[in-house]
Amino acid sequence: MGSYDVVVVGAGVAGASLAYFLSGKGFKTLVIDMRSFERVGDKPCADAIGKHHFDEVNLEPPSEELLEGYVRGLDIYSPSELIRYRVLGDGYEVDRIKFTKHLLKSAIDKGAEFAGGTYGIEPIVKEGFVTGVITWSRGGGRREIRSKVLVDASGVARAIVRRLDESTWPVRDDSELMDYNITYREVRRLRRDVDEPDVLRIYVSKRVAPGGYWWVFPHSKEGDVVNVGLGVQGGMGYPNPRDLLYEHVLTRSEYEGSEVVEAGGAAVPTRRPARTLVWNGIAVTGDAAYTVNPVHGGGKGSAILASWCISQAITQALDSGEPSAKGLWNANVCFNKRYGAKQAALDIFRLFLQKLSDDDLEYGMSKKIIKEEDLNEVSLKGHLELSVVEKGLRLLAGLARPSLLFKLKRVAQYMSEVKQLYMNYPESPEGLSRWYSGVKEIYSRFKAEV
Ligand SMILES: Cc1cc2nc3c(=O)[nH]c(=O)nc-3n(C[C@H](O)[C@H](O)[C@H](O)COP(=O)(O)OP(=O)(O)OC[C@H]3O[C@@H](n4cnc5c(N)ncnc54)[C@H](O)[C@@H]3O)c2cc1C
Repeated sequence: MGSYDVVVVGAGVAGASLAYFLSGKGFKTLVIDMRSFERVGDKPCADAIGKHHFDEVNLEPPSEELLEGYVRGLDIYSPSELIRYRVLGDGYEVDRIKFTKHLLKSAIDKGAEFAGGTYGIEPIVKEGFVTGVITWSRGGGRREIRSKVLVDASGVARAIVRRLDESTWPVRDDSELMDYNITYREVRRLRRDVDEPDVLRIYVSKRVAPGGYWWVFPHSKEGDVVNVGLGVQGGMGYPNPRDLLYEHVLTRSEYEGSEVVEAGGAAVPTRRPARTLVWNGIAVTGDAAYTVNPVHGGGKGSAILASWCISQAITQALDSGEPSAKGLWNANVCFNKRYGAKQAALDIFRLFLQKLSDDDLEYGMSKKIIKEEDLNEVSLKGHLELSVVEKGLRLLAGLARPSLLFKLKRVAQYMSEVKQLYMNYPESPEGLSRWYSGVKEIYSRFKAEV
């Protein structure tokens, strides 16, 4: 240990993919994780990734041995479970540990170093720049490691950025508990094979999973193994998701006699991305930068994208010798244009969905106010066509629940407004403060109105 071009704290999918994208470019890179190499990527997860995430960054899709199964689509069930939307799209159920190890090992093969059992304790700050990190390990004790760019990829721990002073380091950007989902999931072997094991299932029900949803994601390679879990909105005083899963889901006949293969829970951020992914000598990626899709909670693909954008910016900044906020800024422009803008729009949609009652959801799905194809469009682009809502208004206004439709129309307008703002993300750090005031203003207007 000593002095590096890039030090990455955390070797989950975000940190491992960043090391992968930086590898072979001649930089001296160190990745540290409190876990050993054998356990990297072990955060409890439902492990689904859309194929498009790999295409976007030209990353080879996971090979057969890194997978639990293939995905061809997703079913969404209404609270009564009588209505089902099917959204088709190819993807994978990854073996999350094997997949992350594969990315990290590829980086190590090209010269990156890895230190397992090593904690990132705090950043070293000198004259307005992060210049390194203090680490701790059982064998080595406390150490100082120098970096030109330090990357916080420590997941929801946000171990490095949360040690920075928020008033002068906008990269810190703390969050409220209400912007997280608290989740619990088990991988279970059932007594018989699941029908259509390449279709994921999501169940929306405020009664069962308030402010979240519950899911069944089969592992199609085995057929009788499923990842079954439940998430609730944080900070609302809702019951423990494990208790809800045991009370409402695992009591169903299909789980009788099933065997628990794995169990565990974790938090997942479900909000717009951090206001900046970079500052002087530092970058933040993955869950630590809130890069997760706010509606469905998938964060692996977007963490890979954020790390790809950051790797390009680091390469540019180090080649020109300027790892300042300005030198690294393109990471923000790259990410927000490709994903952050949609993510912010989906954050608005998420806040709206979390307020709906089961009756509203049942009604909306039964009347197909938003259809499968619209849902696909919302999920892929963060865009809710106003014409769809207008059509619904014409057809249904006066029949029942016009207020729901009018609200949806306003939601669509807010989504488009916030998306536009993120598409116009400032071209340099000087514009950040003014731009961010605009973001806060839209959100407070939205919260007051809808
Ligand atoms: C129950 C559940 C289901 C989910 N389902 C899906 C899904 O189906 N599809 C999907 O795409 N996403 C899903 N997600 C989200 C997804 O798991 C995360 O977005 C993704 O794993 C984030 O990766 P990351 O690398 O940013 O963070 P992590 O995977 O959390 O990695 C962070 C790493 O940092 C290390 N670390 C932490 N603190 C320190 C420290 N101080 N020093 C050193 N190392 C440290 C940790 O050991 C860890 O290895 C789910 C999340 C949950 C909780």
